[in-house]
Amino acid sequence: MAQIARITEFRQEMENWRQDIHANPELGFEETRTSDLIAQLLTSFGLEVHRHLGKTGVVGVLRGSSGNNAIGLRADMDALPILEENTFKYKSRDDGVMHACGHDGHTAMLLGAAKYLAETKDFSGTVYFIFQPAEEGLGGASAMIKDGLFKKFPVDGVYGLHNWPGLKVGEFAVRPGPMMAACDEFEITVAGEGAHGAMPHLGIDPVVCAADIISSLQTIVSRVNDPLEAAVVSVTKIHGGDAFNVIPKQVDLAGTVRSFKESVQQNVESGILRIAKNVANAHRCKTNVTYTHQFPATVNHEAETLLAAKAATELVGKDHIHHNLPPCMGSEDFSYMLNERPGSYIWMGNSGDPGGCFLHNPKYDFNDESLVWGASYWANLVQTIQPNTSKLS
Ligand SMILES: [Zn+2]
Ligand SMILES: [Zn+2]
Repeated sequence: MAQIARITEFRQEMENWRQDIHANPELGFEETRTSDLIAQLLTSFGLEVHRHLGKTGVVGVLRGSSGNNAIGLRADMDALPILEENTFKYKSRDDGVMHACGHDGHTAMLLGAAKYLAETKDFSGTVYFIFQPAEEGLGGASAMIKDGLFKKFPVDGVYGLHNWPGLKVGEFAVRPGPMMAACDEFEITVAGEGAHGAMPHLGIDPVVCAADIISSLQTIVSRVNDPLEAAVVSVTKIHGGDAFNVIPKQVDLAGTVRSFKESVQQNVESGILRIAKNVANAHRCKTNVTYTHQFPATVNHEAETLLAAKAATELVGKDHIHHNLPPCMGSEDFSYMLNERPGSYIWMGNSGDPGGCFLHNPKYDFNDESLVWGASYWANLVQTIQPNTSKLS
């Protein structure tokens, strides 16, 4: 394919961008160096560049032959607060900040596609290259939308891509419907009355109450939720007490809920509120529950997913596309964009090794072998959805 042949010629350039971004990671909404680099490169390719949507977000605009159609391609730019354990020459220069989710690779691949499409101009209408900040839990996609992303850059469809360890390089996975779960966060404060550890009858013990709440919360998925509907309730934090012989006056719990459907999400939320309040009552404690909806579920639209699958299949062949990979209970803030515009989110292989590092691991690294596949997918997607009509006629 023309895209693969040409993009392979400048693969080393993409690798340099990727490793430079990897060595200089920046946390959500702090991607100033990264966005400077992106803006500089897009300008050098001849794109119109818009900055500061969602603080550090960048949008590159490229117009092809005549046509009013418009497509949005999105990459994320942020790193994670993780201490990198890799030792290669481009490892993070900022201890405690690391590209452990491959957003360095996502950025480099979208830049590669911009370079290729700017060179060939072999498509119709407009392509918006969306570089979003703060995907890792801070809602950068939502911040860009609030700053008018789709009003200033109206797209017919918007597309996302994430590398996926466990899938071989040169493979893709995509399906209509849910790809990633909705993510909620809850905090429960259990208040009792402190007392001497040897005289529990003189106080009200929040530790035993908190333990009971944690156990009872597990009955939401096992006893309240429809077994055919996916949901996760995980208590991931317990803080309480400072001494072995003192019953503390308060215990703080926190955790996360994952689901695909709003009805399931509501059911779990009301279950947590009900159990926390009533179990605390039984123990003479008081509770305060804060429940926050963080990200909605990432749900692929049918028609756009067929187009994404077509573009990927043309690239790698039908034997390298997975249509039935189960969705993941992790979450992704591209969901905000899919709630605004039709589109599709695809996974791209990062390695075939089942024992390899998964995302967010301190030894993870984006696989540079994937760069050509990802950039070529973007280019072919644009050319599939918005073919060059002046050339066809
Ligand atoms: Zn991540
Ligand atoms: Zn990620």
